[in-house]
Amino acid sequence: MIEVNHLTKRYGNHTAVSDLSFTIEKGQIYGFLGPNGAGKSTTMNIMTGCLAATSGEVRIGGFDIFEEAEQAKKLIGYLPEQPPLYLDRTPREYLTFVARAKRIPERQIPEQLTQVMAVTQTIDVADRLIKNLSKGYRQRVGIAQAILGDPEVIILDEPTVGLDPRQIIEIRDLIKELGKDHTVILSSHILSEVQAVCQTILIISKGKLVACDSPANLEKLFAGTTTVDLVAEASEGELWEILSGVGNIAKIEVTEKAPNRCKARLNMGNREGNQACREIFFAFSKAGRAILQMSTARASLEDIFMELTAGEREEAQ
Ligand code: ADP
Ligand code: MG
Repeated sequence: MIEVNHLTKRYGNHTAVSDLSFTIEKGQIYGFLGPNGAGKSTTMNIMTGCLAATSGEVRIGGFDIFEEAEQAKKLIGYLPEQPPLYLDRTPREYLTFVARAKRIPERQIPEQLTQVMAVTQTIDVADRLIKNLSKGYRQRVGIAQAILGDPEVIILDEPTVGLDPRQIIEIRDLIKELGKDHTVILSSHILSEVQAVCQTILIISKGKLVACDSPANLEKLFAGTTTVDLVAEASEGELWEILSGVGNIAKIEVTEKAPNRCKARLNMGNREGNQACREIFFAFSKAGRAILQMSTARASLEDIFMELTAGEREEAQ
């Protein structure tokens, strides 16, 4: 349905999106996940034809978003991060304006408005000024504007930002409902959000795609790792030597060291927790060194997200 090929966007000498490629299939809900500044909005603005790319290609249903903008744009409804709402208008006036801009034939407009207002449950507020609506209702009006003209693809940039928990649940339910007969792409910097509504997660970090899979597969792929936190009565040198006798440790991170006491975090790969502890225990015992503390943890999807986007956080600080 959508193909993004080698998309790059530079602002001066800052690269916001870097050689991004992915494919969006019909009929799923996709989540763009990444910390603030990752390049989500930039990518969505380019995909919807609102912003020019530095290089690369975007095709919507086979149409090039730049070369065949009119056909391509007909297939997409977009709710940008800052919805272009007219505060001194009512939702009915605003949606009529959008319907005309989308060139929906005049006599079809009333029926289309009724339909999108029913789906987004905005009929009750149709004749109030938008400036007097709650953020939740404004967001519904924003979504109503995106789905006018019945586009196949709906792109929503951070649709739940700034909403209270109840409004978040309502908007999520609405997105799930839309996902039944549309392709939906939403962005978020909150993992639990994309986990709750999306069938496929694309993790973006520093303008690059770092992972793309179902939440379950991402968890299986990365989160199968067991981490062991260890405090041992040994020098750092001894610790390294003892652990070198335990095969297949993906990563050793010594976090504290005293002459005869070390604290370390070990990535034990996909070993089961007790098995990892057993191997470490016997290695230390054979060397005549005591383990003072040992605990295991398995990585969650949250950990994966933190790890994949770690560089970004450090840079930001
Ligand atoms: P996200 O939506 O994931 O938070 P953005 O796409 O908004 O990320 O931004 C990606 C990067 O591009 C950020 O570093 C941001 O500061 C930069 N950026 C975005 N828009 C502009 C602009 N108009 N001019 C210069 N830099 C920009
Ligand atoms: Mg953004």
